Amino acid sequence: MEKSIIIIGGGLTGLSAGCYGRMNGYKTSIFEMHDIAGGVCTAWKRKGYTIDGAMNWLVGTSPKNSFYKFWEELGAAQHWKIYNHDLYSSFEDKDGKVFNIICDADRFEKYLLELAPEDEDIIREFTKGIRDFSRMDMPSNKPSELNGWLDKIKVVKMLPMLMIMKKWMKISAGDFCKRFKNPYLRQSLTSAFGGDLLPMMLIFWMLGYQHSKSAGYVIGGALEHVRFLEERYRALGGEIHLKARVEKILVENNKAVGIKLADGTEHRADWVVSAADGRTTIFEMLEGKYVDETIKQRYDNPKLFSPLVYVGLGVSGRFEEIPPSVSGLSFPLDTPITVAGKEHSRLGLLTYGYDPTLAPEGKTVLKVQFETDYDYWEKLYKEPEKYKAEKERIADDVIAALDNRFPGLASKVEMRDVATPVTWVRYTGNWKGSYEGWMFSAETFTSSMRKTLPGLDNFYMAGQWVNPGGGMPTAAMSGNHTIQLICNKDKKKFVTTKP
Ligand SMILES: Cc1cc2nc3c(=O)[nH]c(=O)nc-3n(C[C@H](O)[C@H](O)[C@H](O)COP(=O)(O)OP(=O)(O)OC[C@H]3O[C@@H](n4cnc5c(N)ncnc54)[C@H](O)[C@@H]3O)c2cc1C
Repeated sequence: MEKSIIIIGGGLTGLSAGCYGRMNGYKTSIFEMHDIAGGVCTAWKRKGYTIDGAMNWLVGTSPKNSFYKFWEELGAAQHWKIYNHDLYSSFEDKDGKVFNIICDADRFEKYLLELAPEDEDIIREFTKGIRDFSRMDMPSNKPSELNGWLDKIKVVKMLPMLMIMKKWMKISAGDFCKRFKNPYLRQSLTSAFGGDLLPMMLIFWMLGYQHSKSAGYVIGGALEHVRFLEERYRALGGEIHLKARVEKILVENNKAVGIKLADGTEHRADWVVSAADGRTTIFEMLEGKYVDETIKQRYDNPKLFSPLVYVGLGVSGRFEEIPPSVSGLSFPLDTPITVAGKEHSRLGLLTYGYDPTLAPEGKTVLKVQFETDYDYWEKLYKEPEKYKAEKERIADDVIAALDNRFPGLASKVEMRDVATPVTWVRYTGNWKGSYEGWMFSAETFTSSMRKTLPGLDNFYMAGQWVNPGGGMPTAAMSGNHTIQLICNKDKKKFVTTKP
């Protein structure tokens, strides 16, 4: 008889687990609390404009990248149209001079050498790093839990690559940039990389993906990408229940046996996979009964992605004076903008003119985001009038700042929308609005998180709360790996099929 899997959460991880579960002959039922699938990989429509909530760059859009096969098996790669950016970002200083980070490492090198010939050695080291990382491909075929001795030999073969990664993981962007003699280059790169903290490895990785054109933008954005996976899941015969909030995971004799929904109904299965928020899963659905010291420590001292305040604008006009880029144009403000008590002296602006599906013809979506403090917004949300007024105030300030930099823009704004960390919590349940779960760090890079809970059988956690750093490719991979682990326990050969 067909065994069954209940999957909590219909984000990308849940959809991926559902597809691979069906490919392997399981009866799968996804329970999703929202009225659409996708989780944080989403978008919302306002006055004919679509504000995209996740699609900046999607690793695996080139067949040369190992993540591509997930997107192919999940039914996305056959249908998507990919846009590859020319620029990664642009950084304008107070004199209006613009420094560009160019995606193609060869052109970027030439540009940097023209700007600062005296820094030739470090420029070449920098662009070599980008090219080195562009050739690196992380093994993603199998969960590490299933590695055998052959895989360990493969890891030995990867040692040179791992050594390069380790070296650059230890060097911060700030320290690396200090080595540039040219003050303009030093300052522009430091600021463009967001200050001191990011490890150079992440920067090389991001730019390496752009150089190899392996991380493009899916035309149609995040929800279009979700649609591909949802259609594939349904075509494979998977069930999805929307507006179905899971309140409890049912446990008998320390074995997960099903779930109880907020409407009181119970559903049973041979396996339960939670692809929903980690804290809710462990401490609410399972009442904190299956934790050890490591889990407690992690949740007591969370190191999470900072949540966002997200301002989406719809403007009439093509807004072509800003060339599009992966992470936008950053420019200084005459008057700082305060968000949750923090002053921002620069604005990062993303334009989406390259995706004609997001706005009516001749119009454009713009986006500005601020990293912010969750507790501030949670408190303010309890006073609806003040919360609404504060969102309006931020939209006003952003529009005024944009109008100052691009005169006349304010009069072209037809749509404005502000989302806060509370918005993400309300619609996706992600703890403190952390849209990618645990922050990626040197510590999380070298250690892996368990996908099971101590003392609980027939249960797995999947997605960004057990894969630090999160991201869409991780979600696809995590769904695949979870089903591999289940097949292994059921002594079944794991298979994949293409549509
Ligand atoms: C602004 C933004 C920009 C991003 N940019 C990128 C990018 O450029 N590239 C990239 O790769 N990634 C990006 N990401 C991250 C990426 O979208 C996520 O890491 C990924 O989609 C997470 O998928 P998930 O399924 O693991 O989690 P989620 O999307 O959080 O899915 C969890 C699902 O569980 C549901 N759920 C929660 N609680 C319950 C419950 N009690 N009962 C039933 N259902 C429940 C939620 O509603 C949700 O649908 C971005 C995210 C954001 C928000």
